[in-house]
Amino acid sequence: MRVTGTVRRRPEGTDNPKIPTGTVEVMASELEVLNLADPLPFQIDEPEAAARVNEEMRLKHRYLDLRRPEMLRNLRLRSRVAAATRTYFDEQGFLEVETPILFKSTPEGAREFLVPNRREPGTAYALPQSPQQFKQILMVAGVERYYQIARCFRDEDQRADRQLEFTQIDVEMSFIDREDLYATIEGLLQRVWKVGLDRDIPTPFPRLRFADALNRFGIDKPDTRFGMELADFTEEFRASPFKVFSGAVAAGGVVKALNAKGLACATQGQIQAMTDLATSFGAKGLAFIKVENGEWKSPIVKFFGETEKAALTQKLGIAEGDLVLFAAGEWLTACEILGKIRLYAADVLKAQGKLVLDPGRFDFLWVVDFPLLSFDREQNRWYSSHHPFTAPVAEDVSLLRTDPKRVRGQHYDVVVNGVELGGGSIRIHQPDVQKTIFEEVLQIPPETAQARFGYMLEAFRYGAPPHGGIALGFDRLIAILCGTPSIRDVIAFPKTAKGTCLMTESPGLMEPKQLRELGLELKVARKD
Ligand code: ASP
Repeated sequence: MRVTGTVRRRPEGTDNPKIPTGTVEVMASELEVLNLADPLPFQIDEPEAAARVNEEMRLKHRYLDLRRPEMLRNLRLRSRVAAATRTYFDEQGFLEVETPILFKSTPEGAREFLVPNRREPGTAYALPQSPQQFKQILMVAGVERYYQIARCFRDEDQRADRQLEFTQIDVEMSFIDREDLYATIEGLLQRVWKVGLDRDIPTPFPRLRFADALNRFGIDKPDTRFGMELADFTEEFRASPFKVFSGAVAAGGVVKALNAKGLACATQGQIQAMTDLATSFGAKGLAFIKVENGEWKSPIVKFFGETEKAALTQKLGIAEGDLVLFAAGEWLTACEILGKIRLYAADVLKAQGKLVLDPGRFDFLWVVDFPLLSFDREQNRWYSSHHPFTAPVAEDVSLLRTDPKRVRGQHYDVVVNGVELGGGSIRIHQPDVQKTIFEEVLQIPPETAQARFGYMLEAFRYGAPPHGGIALGFDRLIAILCGTPSIRDVIAFPKTAKGTCLMTESPGLMEPKQLRELGLELKVARKD
C-alpha cells in the first residue's frame, strides 16, 4: 500500500504508547494498493502468537516468519557482527580468501556430501567439512594471515541444534604460538560483544587444562557461572568396606562426588533421571546421600567411617538439604557422569529458583592441553582427538611412539557459559612429522595417506611456516548474542532435523535424465 498525505500529531487521547509511531498519524490524501495479500497462515505481529505457531509452519512460510521483528533483529545482528568481524580482521592485516566448495573426499571425521561428477562418471567432489586443508596450504603460499566467513557441510545425523550446512569464522596464521592466537580471538570476541551487545568483556580469558576441566566440572566445555564442582575421594575410599568404591580404586579407577546444594528434595523421577544418566555411561547405578533432618540418608552411609564422612563434609561443604552424588570407576567416565549430573541438577535448581544466573553474564575461557589422541577400542587403534594436523606439545613428541595416551595436543577450545564457541590448534608443519602421525600413529596405510593428503605433504616440503588457527561457530555465536537457544532462529533458511528445507521442499528427486548424465543408477525404489 502506498499512502500519500501529511504526518501530524495524533489528536489528544488517541496516542498508542505501545508502538514507535504511537504519537503521530498520516492524514491521507491518496491511497494506492500496490499488491494484494492472502490471509496469513499465522499472526506475525504479536510475539506471543508467534511462539504458539509450530516451527514447521514457520519454516514452510519462512518469508512470513522472517517478517517478525525478532527474526529481523536476529538477521540484522548477524549482518552487523559479520561486518564487524571483517573490519576487525582487515585492521589486523588479514586477507579474506574464498576456498572451494567443490572439494575432494578425505574421509576422516564426519560423513561428507558427495557431488557426482558428470565429466568423469564414477568420480565425485565432496563438499568441505571445513576449509582446513586449503587454509594450511594458504600458509605455505605466504598469505600469513587468513580468515573467511566460510560455509561448511557435514552429513551427520543431526543432534539437537545442528545444521547440515553451517557457517564458521575460519582463521589461520603463520609464525604464531598459542598465545598469539588467543590474543587475536579475544580481541575479535571483545569487538563482537561490543558491536552486538554494547558489552565490554574482560580479557585475557582464563585458561583451564583439559584434565582440570574434567576433574572439576566433568566436561571439556564447562559452564563456570555456577560452582557445584566435583571433588575426588579416591584416597579416602581406597580401603573402604564399600566394595563398589574400593573395587573401582583397586582397578585403577577413581571415586568422585559432587554436592547438589539444596537438592535433597529431588523427586523420585529426578533421581531416576540422574541414575539413567549414570547408567547410559555403563555405570550399574547411582550412589547418593540425601541430607535431611540432620541425617545422612542413604543405604551406603553404613559403610562410611568417621574420616570418610569428615572428608566428604569438608571437601563438599555438606549441609542440611543437600544431595551428594557419587561416581566410581575409570577416571574419564566417572568425571563425565558427574558432569552430566551437574548440568541436570543445575537445571532442576534453576527451575526451583534456587540457582539464578544473570542472563547478561558471559564466562569465557580457553580449554587447553587436550590429549592429542584417543583410543578406539572397537577398531583397536588411536585416532586424533581434534584432527590429524594438530601438533603435539613439543615436550611430549618423544612419547608419540612409546606412550601415545600421554601426548598432549596444541589444541584449544574457546568456551562461553558451557557452550563450545570454537576450536583450533597449532599445526604440524614438518612433512616428516605429519607423515609419522598419519602412518605410524593413526595407522593410515601409506598409499591411502598419499592419495588423501599427498598434495599437502608435498606442499609442506617447500618450506611451510609454523602455523596455527581456529574456527568459531558463527551461527552459535549469533544465537548466544541474540539470547536464543536455537541456531535455526539466526539462520535465514535453516533445514529441519531431518535435513529438509520445508519451504523449497529440498532435497528433491533426481530426474532420470540427470541420473543418466551422471552415470548413476538407483538401487532403491523412488518415492514418486
Ligand atoms: N577446521 C577445524 C574445525 O572445523 C578448526 C581448526 O582447527 O581450525 O573444527
